[in-house]
Amino acid sequence: MSEVLIIGSGLGGLECGALLSQEGIRVRVLEASNQPGGCMQSFRRGGLHYDTGLHYVGGLAPGQALHSAFVRLGLMELPWQRMDEDFDYVIIQGRHFTFRQGYDAFMHGLANDFPHQREALQSFVHRLQHVTAADMEVCAYDYLRQIFSDELLLNVVSAAAMKTELRPESLPLFNFAHTCSSYIESSWRLRGDGNLLVDKLVDTIRSAGGEVLTNSKVVSLTEKEGRAASVVCSDGRSFEAEYFISDIHPASLCRLTEECPSVRKSFRRRMTSAQNTCGMFTAQLRLKPGALRYFGHNVFIYNEPNVWTMAEDNSPVKGVMLSARVPDEGIDDGDCSLRQMDLLTPMPWHECEAWKDTRVGHRGDGYKALCRQKTEQCLALAEQYIPGLSGMVEQCYTSTPLTYRDYLGSPEGGAFGMRKDCRMPMLSFHSVTTPLPNLLLTGQSVVLPGIEGVTMTAFETCSKILNKTKEN
Ligand SMILES: Cc1cc2nc3c(=O)[nH]c(=O)nc-3n(C[C@H](O)[C@H](O)[C@H](O)COP(=O)(O)OP(=O)(O)OC[C@H]3O[C@@H](n4cnc5c(N)ncnc54)[C@H](O)[C@@H]3O)c2cc1C
Repeated sequence: MSEVLIIGSGLGGLECGALLSQEGIRVRVLEASNQPGGCMQSFRRGGLHYDTGLHYVGGLAPGQALHSAFVRLGLMELPWQRMDEDFDYVIIQGRHFTFRQGYDAFMHGLANDFPHQREALQSFVHRLQHVTAADMEVCAYDYLRQIFSDELLLNVVSAAAMKTELRPESLPLFNFAHTCSSYIESSWRLRGDGNLLVDKLVDTIRSAGGEVLTNSKVVSLTEKEGRAASVVCSDGRSFEAEYFISDIHPASLCRLTEECPSVRKSFRRRMTSAQNTCGMFTAQLRLKPGALRYFGHNVFIYNEPNVWTMAEDNSPVKGVMLSARVPDEGIDDGDCSLRQMDLLTPMPWHECEAWKDTRVGHRGDGYKALCRQKTEQCLALAEQYIPGLSGMVEQCYTSTPLTYRDYLGSPEGGAFGMRKDCRMPMLSFHSVTTPLPNLLLTGQSVVLPGIEGVTMTAFETCSKILNKTKEN
């Protein structure tokens, strides 16, 4: 009998598996898809690797947010590439701004553009460094409106948070601050694809005698005497364990526990009634060799003054993120030609609704036309920074929230799991515990999405199990 069974091999599931394996606990991870990694997995087309949910990571320098966690997980051994000192460029209606790594440098850089807001910037940067759980109840947008009298600056500091869901009425300051702060500490890209991360974690689990089984979709969980007892897979296999961790969307977990009397209606309602974050449209570009040089910063381009509207309505595309991929051969040895770049923009679920009953590869011409149109709109915006970019594209692969729904089982293809709402923090932020004492949650829907948020939660999930195993 494995001691801990993990449902889902996203980053959170694999990190929990690796941490517990390091503590001598036997782990079995069950993954529905034919590849582990969830949003961290990459795919190969025409000899090149493309990532699905990894562009950049913050806080990897010693003493910063993720460093010690990544050392513990063995992930600091991977080839991380520090980004440019000016790591994020923001262009709003043709006006250019840059974000510099380091809180002071970030603040002084923006204060040069907005000298009348220097004090406000100082207090903003201070708040980013001292965010607490109380900020789950604070509305990020209201907070920004209070401290910044200059509307343009409010939008500039928010622009790179496109990678979370910028909803003025609900986004908690806690989430907004975490999305900004670790990247300001220091920003990094991986040289190589997300599978490096996945393989490292899978190796840690397997070398300790654990298992990561793909093509193993869990369809139900059984309860015995008030504890989770076993899971059943779609092909009929069943597995028992002492502890269970769910790295899947909490609403999907609720569907698995329909036969568990201890998982009461109130818990189910909390997990199934919460809204999902919006998904992303991604155009992954393969560029002609030699057409463009690598650049070590992201670019966020908006053609509207208000960057806080896209989660609801982004048709036609109002803003785009450009993320260049570090060349496999590195950037220090002369050849800095850029072969791959992703263009990302939020895509609310209602834009996908017409194809909700279709599956990958069978969505028809209307869907293809939508993807083409979105790509053209993203490219048109991107050309504000890279004139002639469309002519440099050799190949383009697109994905929408439907892609994420079908490959990862994320409801409505939400890119960042369940929405957090500052108006109801008790209902939208979750503890890692569940009504079954030996069933725990992990992953991006619990507290915070992204690599930092998921990693923090994985440590919390594992500490609950380790404390219990030490008690026994
Ligand atoms: C387009 C995009 C870009 C992103 N870019 C970044 C970035 O640059 N930096 C950053 O920090 N974060 C980024 N993120 C966010 C980050 O990728 C995610 O927050 C994180 O990877 C989520 O991990 P997770 O553990 O919650 O699991 P998930 O990735 O959601 O994986 C869950 C796994 O569970 C499996 N599963 C589902 N149901 C079952 C079942 N019944 N049985 C067994 N297995 C099941 C799925 O197949 C999947 O493998 C991005 C996300 C997206 C969508």
